[in-house]
Amino acid sequence: MADTLKPENDPMGAAILDFARNGKARCRLKVLSSMFDDDEMEVRHLFRTPDQMPELERKALDMATGRILDVGAGAGCHALALQKAGHDVTAIDISDLSCQAMAMRGIDKVRCINLYDSTLTGPFDTILLLMNGTGIAGKVAGVPRFLLRLKELLANGGQVLIDSSDLRYVYEDEDGNLDFDPSDGYYGEVDYRMTYGKVRGERFDWLYLEFPLLQAFAQEAGLHAELVAEGDHYDYLARLYM
Ligand code: SAH
Repeated sequence: MADTLKPENDPMGAAILDFARNGKARCRLKVLSSMFDDDEMEVRHLFRTPDQMPELERKALDMATGRILDVGAGAGCHALALQKAGHDVTAIDISDLSCQAMAMRGIDKVRCINLYDSTLTGPFDTILLLMNGTGIAGKVAGVPRFLLRLKELLANGGQVLIDSSDLRYVYEDEDGNLDFDPSDGYYGEVDYRMTYGKVRGERFDWLYLEFPLLQAFAQEAGLHAELVAEGDHYDYLARLYM
């Protein structure tokens, strides 16, 4: 994955900055994938307030303590809520446009930086990865590196709060059998490309990882994984700690 995104290849960032400036998006944020039908993302959703957030995200906000790092913070909805509640929070994102929007929205500590950039150093007591936080790992093969990086940023006694979903339901038939050829990889490995008017993003990998697999990888990385809560659509919030 690129280090950070160039504004001309950053449709989501363009949409976020538009919305932060004008209270609305100029055009539709389209989400294309080689696996699914074309879809759209509601830009407003990225600006959700705690009362508009799913239960699992509110739970994560409640559990966040100490020095907090919000990874892939987007429009900064979680960082902003935590800062308002008096927490010390740093928001990072590879989208410079999104980081501009977050600064505009009043988030004090914003950095346009990749999670894997070595100039990002901890320690953090809570690392937050929300709205399919495992996505940043890209593919199953990227999970060990992803978890080791999170572990490296954690303070003693720190925790990672991360959400994802089991995409099994997409491929399951009425009898509960999986209509997915395992030689095609893991069914949670998805690719996306976004467009926003004339702004076209590059294709990227995005991983949905079921909890048992996350837990197995966490164990390999020397982390405990606890299932905090499950949502009503195969989604869950997990807590990883040393
Ligand atoms: N957490 C936000 C936004 C989720 S979208 C929310 O819940 O609303 C995922 C975000 O992760 C995007 O803004 C994308 O730019 C960012 N991102 C993707 N890969 C990243 C990486 N390697 N390091 C930091 N941010 C990343």
